[in-house]
Amino acid sequence: MKGSGVQMDLFGSTLFKEEQPTTKVAKPPTLSVEWSFSRRGTLETCPRKYYYQYYGGKQEKRGSPKELDSIRFMKMLSNQHLVSGKIVHSLIRLFLTKAQEGTIYPLDLLKKMARESVTNSIVYTENYQQGDEKKNPYLHLLQEVFEERENYEVTYQEVIDKTSTLLDNFYQSEVFKPFVEAGKKPGAFAEKKFKLPLDDRTKVSGEADLAFWQDGQFVICDWKTGKVDDGDDSMQLLTYTWWAMDTQNVPLDKVKLYKAYLLENEVKEFRLSEREFYMNKIAIRQSADVMLEMAEFGEEGDWSAFTPCNQQKICALCPFQKICQ
Ligand code: SF4
Repeated sequence: MKGSGVQMDLFGSTLFKEEQPTTKVAKPPTLSVEWSFSRRGTLETCPRKYYYQYYGGKQEKRGSPKELDSIRFMKMLSNQHLVSGKIVHSLIRLFLTKAQEGTIYPLDLLKKMARESVTNSIVYTENYQQGDEKKNPYLHLLQEVFEERENYEVTYQEVIDKTSTLLDNFYQSEVFKPFVEAGKKPGAFAEKKFKLPLDDRTKVSGEADLAFWQDGQFVICDWKTGKVDDGDDSMQLLTYTWWAMDTQNVPLDKVKLYKAYLLENEVKEFRLSEREFYMNKIAIRQSADVMLEMAEFGEEGDWSAFTPCNQQKICALCPFQKICQ
């Protein structure tokens, strides 16, 4: 009777084995998130923007984002505020990594590269808009140009002026000199990306602008291109500290954190106490839990679960205005 599905019990009675379903039931996928300070910032600012940024593009068909009203295209747009920060951060990384190899880029060259990055990005955006969609990873698609905003040339001249000031200060200011000199030495980390496991469903990611050992302390410096004290970023400082403790085996009291404000020539030192370290870790945990709850709706493309902020000032800078409902 082997394989018939019939069994006998101890007393010889017949037991009928229940038929097993032949089709396998698919397990629901385990949702996970990669928490970052900027992702958390987007969710706090506007949940609908968070949906577009992290989930909306997945619902569109694969391939290059040629359609200019697609979420995947809009995600690539940068506004004037983002662009100046991106250009200056990438040029500082280039300067420091080249210096570590023995080549010192002069200030004029860095400023020229910044200027060309802006002017070439304007042309690149205009061409992209007219159907020349070849992607260039070294240039930026500019939101104001794409939206044909009045006076975008003036806006981007201001961006050129701002990047020039930021680079002047980075290169020449005495307050940044100890960081720049330490960053030029081999072994210093420049724009070091990291990922840390929070649990089996959540990773914490970040990027340390500059980090190095000095006199038995581990120094981490965050280049800021905005105004002094433009918001609470203690969770971001926590991620840097955590990365240092995890990968460099540094005790908490040996981690020194600095924020270097390139526009206003100011450096501020921070240290996290043990209590602040754990409080911020709990705050990240809670923020990640909210992201995990939202992930289910996001993966299903249920944009209605993500409330739009509808705040004029925030919407004016948002690349998704055109499609936001
Ligand atoms: S346009 Fe405004 S409401 Fe819509 S996603 Fe952007 S920021 Fe949010």
